[in-house]
Amino acid sequence: MPTALITGITGQDGAYLAALLLDKGYRVVGLARRSASADRVDERLRWLGVLDRVELADGDLLDVSSLIRIIQDVGPDEVYNLAAQSFVAASWQQPLLTGSVTGLGAVNLFEAVRLAHPQARLYQASSSEMFGLIQQPVQNEKTPFYPRSPYAAAKLYAHWMTVNYRESFGLHASSGILFNHESPLRGIEFVTRKVTDGVARIKLGLADSLALGNLDATRDWGHARDYVRAMWLMLQQEVADDYVIATGRTTSIRELCRIAFAHAGLDYAAHVTSSASLMRPAEVDVLLGDPGKAKRVLGWQATTSLEDMIGEMVDADLARHRARHLALRT
Ligand code: NDP
Ligand code: GDP
Repeated sequence: MPTALITGITGQDGAYLAALLLDKGYRVVGLARRSASADRVDERLRWLGVLDRVELADGDLLDVSSLIRIIQDVGPDEVYNLAAQSFVAASWQQPLLTGSVTGLGAVNLFEAVRLAHPQARLYQASSSEMFGLIQQPVQNEKTPFYPRSPYAAAKLYAHWMTVNYRESFGLHASSGILFNHESPLRGIEFVTRKVTDGVARIKLGLADSLALGNLDATRDWGHARDYVRAMWLMLQQEVADDYVIATGRTTSIRELCRIAFAHAGLDYAAHVTSSASLMRPAEVDVLLGDPGKAKRVLGWQATTSLEDMIGEMVDADLARHRARHLALRT
């Protein structure tokens, strides 16, 4: 039975990846940091029905000794580094924490692997945000980077360190440059989930408006369930490499709103406002990925349309709010 270690197992991708690997017969160990609200941290793993099938190991990306100890104990065949301060907007408020966790934290993990178990295959969660102020209309593995936030700069550092550990130490280290991917388990602060949660609250009469920031930015959105499959495929290759993972379609926030509200029989224009206070200090206006290499080499392609994914997210948020309302009445 192969063993995988996942950092960030309590996040969106960590939960979907754990479920995928368990289905494939892996032993799955997740790095989980101490929290005073441990019952809430497990929520995504519980939602997918895999909480009692994963092993959680106490540790933190900022504590390299915890990483070395876990890697020595577990001896993983595959290590997936998904842990990060992952929210772009928060990275302007906490640039040093973001640099420490999202940038240097990744290197703590690479060092732990190199020192304690260098035969492990390594996946680094890189991001399309590294393209930032885009240098080509469609971004692929050869497109120059231009990060536009502390988050993107930290991810770019970790990305180049992945390449360096591969080239300097011969680690089997791959970097997945993933475009935005969402699901009912996406954090509520990200725009897709903020919108689907807003639709549910408006539909159920719990709110009548939804304040957003820039409605004109566009993103290449896929489904997290599809994207974790690409992570696994990268580590099954003989040779480690870097891959863009995307759908090849870009959609504005405004159009996303139209789709989400229409799914609940509502008109977005009657409810959505754009507030200057929610604009970012620097915006990434457009992201559009070319997943050609992933298709050619990994045989990977996205299988879920934006409309189906948003429909699934709206339905899940409606169900969550109904359940909460029922619980309050009983
Ligand atoms: P989430 O924000 O949902 O999850 C982040 C995870 O990192 C959580 O499990 C969190 O733990 C953990 N974490 C944060 N800080 C630390 C720390 N110091 N030590 C250990 N664990 C820590 O992110 P996603 O699942 O959406 O994304 C997974 C990865 O992919 C991230 O690195 C993200 O930046 C990257 N990415 C995501 C994209 C997307 O569209 N989703 C696109 C491209 C890249 P806790 O639960 O305790 O907070
Ligand atoms: P990101 O691409 O990782 O920053 O993912 P987000 O979901 O946080 O943001 C995607 C885009 O939506 C960005 O261009 C934001 O400026 C835009 N956006 C507009 N309104 C909002 C909002 O209220 N919240 C968030 N998170 N993003 C918003």
